[in-house]
Amino acid sequence: MTDQSTSTGSGDASADDANRETTDQLAFQNPVTRYPVIEPPEQDQPEPGLDAKLLPKSDRGEFSYRGTGRLEGRRALITGGDSGIGAAVAIAFAREGADVAITYLPAEEPDAQEIKRIVEEAGRTAVLLPGDLTDKAFCESSVADAVAGLGGLDILVNNAGKQIAQKSLAELPDEQLVQTYEVNVFAMFRITKAALAHLQPGSTIINTTSIVAYMAPEVLVDYASTKAAINSFTKSMGQQLAPKGIRVNAVAPGPIWTPLQPTDGQPKEELPTFGQSTPLGRAGQPTELAPAYVFLASPESSYVIGETLNVNGGMPTP
Ligand code: NAD
Ligand code: MG
Repeated sequence: MTDQSTSTGSGDASADDANRETTDQLAFQNPVTRYPVIEPPEQDQPEPGLDAKLLPKSDRGEFSYRGTGRLEGRRALITGGDSGIGAAVAIAFAREGADVAITYLPAEEPDAQEIKRIVEEAGRTAVLLPGDLTDKAFCESSVADAVAGLGGLDILVNNAGKQIAQKSLAELPDEQLVQTYEVNVFAMFRITKAALAHLQPGSTIINTTSIVAYMAPEVLVDYASTKAAINSFTKSMGQQLAPKGIRVNAVAPGPIWTPLQPTDGQPKEELPTFGQSTPLGRAGQPTELAPAYVFLASPESSYVIGETLNVNGGMPTP
């Protein structure tokens, strides 16, 4: 247990009880049993969904992530930092010593306020940037507002994502196709382009891709193809920016329990067995992703560029 694990907050304490029992990420522990096999009940949340309403609750590290000073004084912008993986990254970055700005949709204000509270509890600054990433103007203003609020920018995490399962291409609405590309791909291009004016040598960019870039499920034709695009973008930009001293990498999660899943990211009937087909036999928790982002953001990964770090419970990747 750590000091952080005993902290209390305004969150739903009873629902977080299971997470309060967890040991920190540096404790010697069996990855098979670090977290239980979850069997999420069939549930429905409208997009974008809230961590506050997720059943069961996920572990974003509030009671388990222990910082070791690896990002002291850094300033990070994390898109979709209100919930799920982005929230876990925001918590970890703050505990590693970074100030963070997070973007999210206005409907996600309760989740964003919770992350702000946890970041501030770590003694760091949290800048909240509500807005819609399908809007090019918001992509640009979010970078400007992050720079203004943090006093500069050293780390960019392009993490926001949209995922809606559809049985067939014939049933894929054009509006969904366009929005999925706008959020997952175009916003990443636009935000990265805007951020380049502010990033100094030593800065890092990390994009959230996915296992589905390689193991593309038949029900995620649009989403899976955006994730392949993110891998390619990471490799191109890694080469383009390396001579400038800016490193670009990606993290590819496997099945992680977040609001993305019960908001039609998966067919409902598949929720109860979510993540059980991985070699570890369980879904991942958002905080299990955080150390990968911390590693790629910190100077210790100085020779790692254009890499996709897979965090997926053991599924083989190319
Ligand atoms: P999440 O729902 O917690 O996070 C996704 C975030 O995207 C939302 O919080 C929201 O703020 C943001 N977003 C979506 N549409 C937006 C829009 N129009 N404008 C602004 N923001 C918008 O779910 P998550 O699983 O933590 O997702 C984070 C990233 O991880 C995504 O890129 C997702 O594709 C990727 N990913 C998730 C999994 C998984 O199993 N959960 C697996 C592989 C990759
Ligand atoms: Mg969210």
